[in-house]
Amino acid sequence: MTAGSSSTPDSPGHPHPRHIRLTSHSGGFGALPIVWGAETARERGPVVGTTTSRAHRNVIGTHSGSYSVYRALAVAAGALKREHKADLTNTAPTNTIGPYPQWSDPAKIVSIDPWGAEVAREYEAELAAGYDIRPTLAVTQAHVMLPEVIEALQKGRLKADGQLLTANGAAMVTKVAVEPVWYLPGVAKRFGCTEAELRRVLFEETGGMYPELVTRSDLEVFLPPIGGQTVYIFGNPRDLADPNVELTARVHDECNGSDVFGSDICTCRPYLTHAIEECIAAAQPKDKGGRGGVGLVAYSRKEGRALGEVTKFLVYNARKRQVGGDTADQYFARTECVAGVQDMRFQELMPDVLHWLGIRKIHRLVSMSNMKYDAITGSGIEVGERINIPDELIPADARVEMDAKMAAGYFTPGAVPDADELKKAKGRALK
Ligand SMILES: [Zn+2]
Repeated sequence: MTAGSSSTPDSPGHPHPRHIRLTSHSGGFGALPIVWGAETARERGPVVGTTTSRAHRNVIGTHSGSYSVYRALAVAAGALKREHKADLTNTAPTNTIGPYPQWSDPAKIVSIDPWGAEVAREYEAELAAGYDIRPTLAVTQAHVMLPEVIEALQKGRLKADGQLLTANGAAMVTKVAVEPVWYLPGVAKRFGCTEAELRRVLFEETGGMYPELVTRSDLEVFLPPIGGQTVYIFGNPRDLADPNVELTARVHDECNGSDVFGSDICTCRPYLTHAIEECIAAAQPKDKGGRGGVGLVAYSRKEGRALGEVTKFLVYNARKRQVGGDTADQYFARTECVAGVQDMRFQELMPDVLHWLGIRKIHRLVSMSNMKYDAITGSGIEVGERINIPDELIPADARVEMDAKMAAGYFTPGAVPDADELKKAKGRALK
């Protein structure tokens, strides 16, 4: 393997460069500094994760999270030119978010680039000078139509207002796609380890995927190859930052089986659609008879408690096949047997997106998770009421999960199941 140097041409457009270009040596001149938590975008400096001009890179990793691997495949297949630069014409956010005071507090936001939606505006000069700067956030608008919302209209739980919710059940939303941008010193602090420790473990546990984690301590920002978040806002996004406007919010972690395919072993989709109904009801305009608040769903790509779907399905089998059947008292134990931990979601980074939106108070949090609640309040956001999932929305096979979670400290306005209750087999057996 031959290490590249600043004199090695980048062979743009060639899918198979002759030399492997190691990134563990500083590429030379031209990299712009990043000052995390600086007041303005100009002082902070752009995040440059381009693979085209090595000398311009000021981060570890590259853009698009896990999709960076597909981009590599596209280049390998000759379908994508390595030097392709995004044409950002007309891609600007449909709604301006921020800037908020939280953006320049380096402790409040450590896993998102708060300026990531506005790179075309903020770094116009650098883009013109040839820097390949890509947005890590994108803001757009949409209509969302869900069968559960249409049913809520038909049953009279929701009423159309012709503005936020139409008579045929379309809800108007602003949605934001978020790619992770990690400021490593800040991430390490959140997890209570040293930056050096974090960098070494990230390097080792990804099979040595990013050598700069251990060789380039001058690079403090990492674009990790993981999924990000999507935010759905019902009502005016500006109102999220006003603690006087009633905010209904859910922070939801991806569960493809339930969210998309309607599998009934958990409460994910029913809770998500209940939250959307609550968000719509909260955000309907006052002059149309609504409460005039704002609603928010922050959806994180953390499939199966961030253990992944293969582990999740293995746990399902272990639960269903254990002696005595699928019981709530063994719910967390079965996950721990397979995965080594009960949960890998670690909500420590989750509140960043709320701070990016300027949120200071959530009046109604549609979640029973004590981990999410603790992370949000621990980050300085006030939480009023907590909204549990209504009993009638819990699928029969999901009772095991619900009882186990309530016994483990999840919020419930009702009775917490006792040890005897948790031993009763309630889950369906495998056929
Ligand atoms: Zn689920």
